[in-house]
Amino acid sequence: MTFKEIGLIPELLTNIEQQGYKTPSPIQQQAIPHILQGKDLMGAAQTGTGKTAGFTLPILQRLVKGDRAKPNSTRALILAPTRELAAQVGKSVEVYGKSLHLSSMVVFGGVKINPQMMRLRKGIDILIATPGRLLDLHEKNAVKFDQLEILVLDEADRMLDMGFIHDIRRVLKVLPENRQNLMFSATFSESIRELAKTIVNSPVEVSVNPANSTAKKINQWLHPVDKKQKSVLLIHLIEEHKWHQVLVFVRTKHGANKLVKQLNAAKIKSLAIHGNKSQGARTKALADFKANKIQVLVATDIAARGIDISQLPQVVNFDLPNVAEDYVHRIGRTGRANTAGQAVSLVSADEIKQLQDIEQLIQKHIKREYVGGFEPSHEVPQSKPIKALKAKKPKKPKKTKVQQANEAVNKSNKVKVKRQKPKGKNVKNKTKAGSRNSQSVWSKSNKTKKG
Ligand code: AMP
Repeated sequence: MTFKEIGLIPELLTNIEQQGYKTPSPIQQQAIPHILQGKDLMGAAQTGTGKTAGFTLPILQRLVKGDRAKPNSTRALILAPTRELAAQVGKSVEVYGKSLHLSSMVVFGGVKINPQMMRLRKGIDILIATPGRLLDLHEKNAVKFDQLEILVLDEADRMLDMGFIHDIRRVLKVLPENRQNLMFSATFSESIRELAKTIVNSPVEVSVNPANSTAKKINQWLHPVDKKQKSVLLIHLIEEHKWHQVLVFVRTKHGANKLVKQLNAAKIKSLAIHGNKSQGARTKALADFKANKIQVLVATDIAARGIDISQLPQVVNFDLPNVAEDYVHRIGRTGRANTAGQAVSLVSADEIKQLQDIEQLIQKHIKREYVGGFEPSHEVPQSKPIKALKAKKPKKPKKTKVQQANEAVNKSNKVKVKRQKPKGKNVKNKTKAGSRNSQSVWSKSNKTKKG
């Protein structure tokens, strides 16, 4: 399938060609036609799958048709969890939307609000925002939503992890009801499904690279090592294998700062990126890393989420994450766009619980390799056997009171009663979603599906 066959307009095809994209990625093939038709959509896809173009291209095409944004108004709102992700989405909107004469703008906190308010005065067709700053701007009457046509919630799982649920609910309250909704999430927990019920209406559901199959494209192994030896081992590995661009994940901000000091002391140029760093420092660290000015970027999970560094050769888990899904996000930074990447974890005996959770999630044991001179005195215990994932039965749609009453009558009279159609928007949505559930990407049975 080509981008043309998907139904994109010539201007977009030119911009795509300039990016050097030959064919649409699986998420683009699945999502773009539905979004062009104005349908609501839920996408199970993470960074690296081409999901940004997957929603940006059809949004641009839809917005080209209508009236431009009026002063202090916006027509499409894209919510992103972090400044970095918002900035990247903003860049994509600019690149893919070149020569379409649609205005776009990225807003996030940590920088002055006044310049953002000034720019919003003219009206902005596509606004990309982090939730907190968006609410601040709305409170100051700098942005209103009566012209809003499309809402996108990008990386919804991370939004919840970062505690944005209340902000999201507040945003939803001020949006017009009649709009197209798109929601993307790497994983599909129960809480994401709950959130989805309040956002999307009868959504089309598409999925690529579910969490447990993503890991297959990446060479991953672990080095058992004592906790105290981890930084020395990391320095040894970087020097031994001449890794020139390494993204290292740590659990805490303090751990990130400490490791950067140790690496720099060993003459390995490194910078940390975490929540306590200013926006300027984070942007600079990322730019320096991309430009190969620094060799190692040490990141916490939240800061690293959404970073777009394609074809990153090497990811190191200095600590294993507490949440197994974060492991999948972390190693997703490498081996993107079908280039083989490497993800190595330094694992100490106290991390056996996290290791087992990860192995359960990715449905395989991670290969163990001992490094000469670094064999641990506290051995990492053997992991438990992997339990096969059980397919989750689709939930039956809830019965309405009318249906329940009919059934009661039916039972007592032993007469066949025609089942009445459920009424009301919510009920209708639940019923439709339920009937599609056997194919739903939001049910676990789909985890084995390939994208
Ligand atoms: P995303 O998942 O949106 O973060 O995109 C990951 C990377 O894939 C970005 O660097 C995009 O520029 C690139 N990309 C997006 N769509 C395509 C495509 N159809 N062909 C090749 N690369 C793409």
